[in-house]
Amino acid sequence: MPISSYTGRFAPSPSGPLHFGSLIAAVGSYLQARAQGGRWLVRIEDLDPPREVPGAADLILHTLDSYGLHWDGEIVYQSRRHPRYQQVLDELGRCGMTYHCDCSRARIQDAGGYYPGYCRPRGLGGASHAIRLRMDRPVYAFDDRLLGRISVPAALAEEDFILKRRDGLFAYNLAVVIDDADSGITEVVRGADLIEPTVRQIALYRLLGRNEPSWLHLPLALQADGRKLSKQNHAPALSQRQISQTLWQALFFLGQQPPPELACAQRDELLMWATSHWTTQHIPLHAQMAASANQP
Ligand code: GLU
Repeated sequence: MPISSYTGRFAPSPSGPLHFGSLIAAVGSYLQARAQGGRWLVRIEDLDPPREVPGAADLILHTLDSYGLHWDGEIVYQSRRHPRYQQVLDELGRCGMTYHCDCSRARIQDAGGYYPGYCRPRGLGGASHAIRLRMDRPVYAFDDRLLGRISVPAALAEEDFILKRRDGLFAYNLAVVIDDADSGITEVVRGADLIEPTVRQIALYRLLGRNEPSWLHLPLALQADGRKLSKQNHAPALSQRQISQTLWQALFFLGQQPPPELACAQRDELLMWATSHWTTQHIPLHAQMAASANQP
């Protein structure tokens, strides 16, 4: 039973099964919530159907369950929240905070990779255009609970980023802010690959007048060739058989050191130990090889 107002979340995209890298985000966000007597919610980020793998959402939920990472409340599916995203987009539009854009990717590349606001004064309308945020109050830096003060390049902070794509899909930054704010998330714990979008998300929180959560970005797990362990890089799915061994590795990766007596412990005993001994002070600050995690 939650005993504090802390509310955390894990928000996987169903583009494949969970792998060791996503387990790190799941375990880190779970322990950070549970250690504070807080709630831990799960949201399926099925915002981009072309990138989805059929059955992946159910498989992810089944894997979380079999790893003992039990969530609170109902699962939120982004695919069911389009009217809400549109409502917020319309509100921003009414306040003159958005504009339509018909620029090609090539034009943006030619301009140096960041969108230079070309369509701002053009007054375009029409369903086949992307909708961009007029970024009048950029956020250049934020405080991360683990990494301290993080600054991003000005061009990134100042870019009029996309809220709705020209193919009609809502953009991640819009959906994630609306969902986290509506769910009352007090702290976002996720992988360090999402550090840069954080400034955009903070800018949106401020524009929408919603309470901003605190932020904690966990080190990324790398594969042997130094690339991030990810679905795109074909990271292997989590084992459904060696659950406590894999959890043990995830805890080591996060700098937690279960005592050797727990080497043969069952999943729930390990998670109980991890919840009562969880400390962010020992989490490494940099990406690490997934394979270097000590095994019991
Ligand atoms: N859906 C994103 C992912 O699977 C995570 C988004 C977030 O935690 O903000 O990488």
